[in-house]
Amino acid sequence: MTQTHETDNEASLLREWMVSRQLEPRGITDPRVLSAFRDVPRHEFVPGVDLRSAYGDHPVPIGEGQTISQPYMVAVMTQCLKLTGTEKVLEIGTGSGYQAAILSRLAEKVYTVERIAALAHRTEEFFQRSGYTNVTIKVGDGTLGWPESAPYDGIIVTAGSPAVPPPLIEQLAEGGRLVIPAGGGYSQRLLVLEKVGGKIIQRDEGGCVFVPLIGEHGWKDRS
Ligand code: SAM
Repeated sequence: MTQTHETDNEASLLREWMVSRQLEPRGITDPRVLSAFRDVPRHEFVPGVDLRSAYGDHPVPIGEGQTISQPYMVAVMTQCLKLTGTEKVLEIGTGSGYQAAILSRLAEKVYTVERIAALAHRTEEFFQRSGYTNVTIKVGDGTLGWPESAPYDGIIVTAGSPAVPPPLIEQLAEGGRLVIPAGGGYSQRLLVLEKVGGKIIQRDEGGCVFVPLIGEHGWKDRS
């Protein structure tokens, strides 16, 4: 067996372990979400990280001081969007592209915004090479959303914000859901906002910890 085959087999076993040990016991039940986690090769989004760490129950550094979120956190946020396959989704915080790749299996079209150009370009190149054809990336301040392609059936913010950026509420379609970690700089609450009859219904899905969302409607850039 070649090394590539061995790696593929081990990675596939690790994905099954991730699903059965980290996701299902904690309440991830949507079969489409579980299937996406079984299919998407998470280790390819974190080159240079050993295989077991790539599938570990924790965030992993991706360079530029950023992280790919813990698998469970990616799963719970994805499940909250309740995607059926026909949706247009906006992600804020492309990072490694793993969350966008999961979304690309579950929605019709994914738009994703990243403020760090080096990360966005690396991920865009990876998507082109790997054939993710329904994902479009741009470099910019995602707290402003992506108005040209709005409205979105789902919006997912993968960095922690002091509050919900108003442009994202405006760009949410009727019946759409917005998932966002909001609160302090060190810990946040995972909020799910739903637009029903033009009004917003909000629920709290529990505590979480994310790197900061930096931008006009997020935290100020202190670098
Ligand atoms: N979703 C990513 C993945 O699957 O790898 C992980 C995202 S990481 C936890 C958060 C990302 O949000 C970082 O890459 C960071 O640069 C980005 N970010 C922070 N503020 C942003 C903003 N205003 N607009 C777009 N991206 C932002």
